[in-house]
Amino acid sequence: MDLTTIKEMIRIIPDFPKAGISFKDITTVIKDGVALKYIIDEMAERCSDRKIDIIAGPEARSFIIGAPLAYRLGVGFVPIRKPGKLPAETIKREYQLEYGTDAMELHKDAIKPGQNVLIVDDLLATGGTIITAVKLVEELGGNVTGLMFLIELTELGGRRTLSDYDVVSLIQYP
Ligand code: 5GP
Repeated sequence: MDLTTIKEMIRIIPDFPKAGISFKDITTVIKDGVALKYIIDEMAERCSDRKIDIIAGPEARSFIIGAPLAYRLGVGFVPIRKPGKLPAETIKREYQLEYGTDAMELHKDAIKPGQNVLIVDDLLATGGTIITAVKLVEELGGNVTGLMFLIELTELGGRRTLSDYDVVSLIQYP
C-alpha cells in the first residue's frame, strides 16, 4: 500500500453536495482494512517527533480517523460537535459558511490547560472548520501541537488561514 494507491481509491463525486463542487469521498478508502490501517500508521509516523497528549476532531468524518490514531498513539480522543449533541457543559464558537453561519461545541472539561493537542480532520479546504476547532481547544488552554489531514485542497488557501500552525496532509489536490 502507498499514498498513490490511497489517492486512486478516493472516489470523486462531481457536483456534490452542489453544482461545481468535486467531492472527495473517503468512504471507499476507510471500508478497506488495509487502506485504513495504512493511513492511520502513516499519520502516526508523521507525528512521531511531536508531543501529543490528546487528539481532538470536528464532527463527523474526523472521528473515523481521529479515534484509531489516538488508539495507535496511546492517547485519548475528544469530539468537537454540532450544537446540542454534547451532554455536559460546553463552550461554543460560531463560524461562517458560504451562506450563513454554523457552530461547534466542545465539553468544558475535555482539555486540561497546557495539554498538547493534535487536531485531526479528513479534509482541509478553506480552513474555516479547523480554525474554529483550534479556537475552541485554545479557549480551554490547550496547546495545538499540529493539524493533521488525510486530504488537502491546496488551492483553497487553508494553509494561509492556519499559517501559525504545523499543518500535515497525506494527499493533496489542487
Ligand atoms: P473547510 O472548513 O476547510 O472549508 O472545509 C473542510 C470541512 O468540510 C471538513 O470538515 C470536511 O469534512 C468537509 N469537506 C469539504 N469538502 C469535502 C470533500 O470534498 N470531501 C470530504 N470528505 N469532506 C469535505
